[in-house]
Amino acid sequence: MWEMRIHDKIDIYSLLDRKFNCPFCEKEHYIPIKLIFIGKDAISRIPYLISTLVRGKRILILSDEITYRVAGNKCEEVLREDYQVTPLILYPKGTKRVYADEKYLPEILAKAKNKDAILTVGAGTITDLGKYVADSLKIPVICFPTAPSMNAYTSGVAALLMGRLKVTLPVQPTRAVITDITIISQAPLDLIKAGFADSLAKAFANADWRISSLLTGEAFCLLPFKIATEAENKYIDKGDELVQRDERVISSLMEGLNLGGISMIIAGKSSPASGGEHLISHFLDMYAHFKGAEIFAYHGLQVGIGVIISSLIYEKLKVLSSREVRHLLSHRKIDYDKEMKFFGEHVPIVSKEFTKKLPVIKRLPELLPSLWDRIKEEAFSLVYTHQQIVEFLSKAECPLRFDDIGVNEELAYHAITKARYIRGRFTILDIADEMGILDEIVDKLHKGEI
Ligand SMILES: [Zn+2]
Ligand SMILES: [Zn+2]
Repeated sequence: MWEMRIHDKIDIYSLLDRKFNCPFCEKEHYIPIKLIFIGKDAISRIPYLISTLVRGKRILILSDEITYRVAGNKCEEVLREDYQVTPLILYPKGTKRVYADEKYLPEILAKAKNKDAILTVGAGTITDLGKYVADSLKIPVICFPTAPSMNAYTSGVAALLMGRLKVTLPVQPTRAVITDITIISQAPLDLIKAGFADSLAKAFANADWRISSLLTGEAFCLLPFKIATEAENKYIDKGDELVQRDERVISSLMEGLNLGGISMIIAGKSSPASGGEHLISHFLDMYAHFKGAEIFAYHGLQVGIGVIISSLIYEKLKVLSSREVRHLLSHRKIDYDKEMKFFGEHVPIVSKEFTKKLPVIKRLPELLPSLWDRIKEEAFSLVYTHQQIVEFLSKAECPLRFDDIGVNEELAYHAITKARYIRGRFTILDIADEMGILDEIVDKLHKGEI
């Protein structure tokens, strides 16, 4: 087995499909993805690239009406010579566009049965549907992204709408991600911006995870943070070039997103890519689904707003001393049941999630002050300042305020103060609420600053 040392330059691509000992957490990690390829005219090379990755010749190409036009038809054409190709094009059912909704599963399952592999041609929706079906049929899935819009191409989870609830299910990761730089560079700008904003969650998610691990003793590994940082440095302050569709910057963004997905495989959970900032976005999705309405904006754009909230919270926390932390924690009493009444008939689902982290929340006054200096050193050091985040997002022309994505002040207030209740994961939102910091964020909202 290959040994990696802490100061080695980490080339994660050399670690695909092999076990290695981690210098950070000292555990063994395994990334089952065999190939991550990005290049010009990659589409023409698909038959060659997958020749050793797929046994058998029957391939289902999964796309929707848009992604089929963008690349699905060309994939079909290049594969037809060597493979028996079946295209499946999804059309919206009762919504403006196709979502990763369970109602699409029966037709995909029916077509994918007796196939040797699924090639997904699309972004988040198609990727999640394809990964889920391939996993249930125990056949490999290969992703051909049409947009650098999120990190699901390499992750080991699929987010699906089941009933009116979005659930994240563990699935086998893709066998390969083959990216044609020309195609993803021509993706709708909002999808490129969404990918960029989603990737900014990394620093905050890892910081949240580190804090949670210090408080609860759950496992933590710094490798996920490390691997994505190098790619991130190549695009994070180049939002202006990103929206000009600069292929080099878009390629780096795609790399950052793919490493974000891989970081979740390494961690065995979504923690290194999803913290409190994601709860804000999940809350907005949940609200829309409960109302039977369409989502407010692309996942990443909503996450970008969440990142702004998290950055404000970290900014306020990092100047506090452990004495002040103790003082703030002892002065606030929250009536959780009263807060959760907001969720109406869905209280049981929410309450079940929130109860998972209640033991650690109850112990905060005892644990947090004594761990505060360590948290500052090991978690706060990972995040960007609020001003940096605003600069990064502005340069990439991403939404900066709730209003920009159609969320009114009242709902924004609930998103800030209630998002913590919808998941059992402990995040910075919990600490901020327990210390009364969220009230200060809400003040900013009422002043029209966020
Ligand atoms: Zn590790
Ligand atoms: Zn995300």
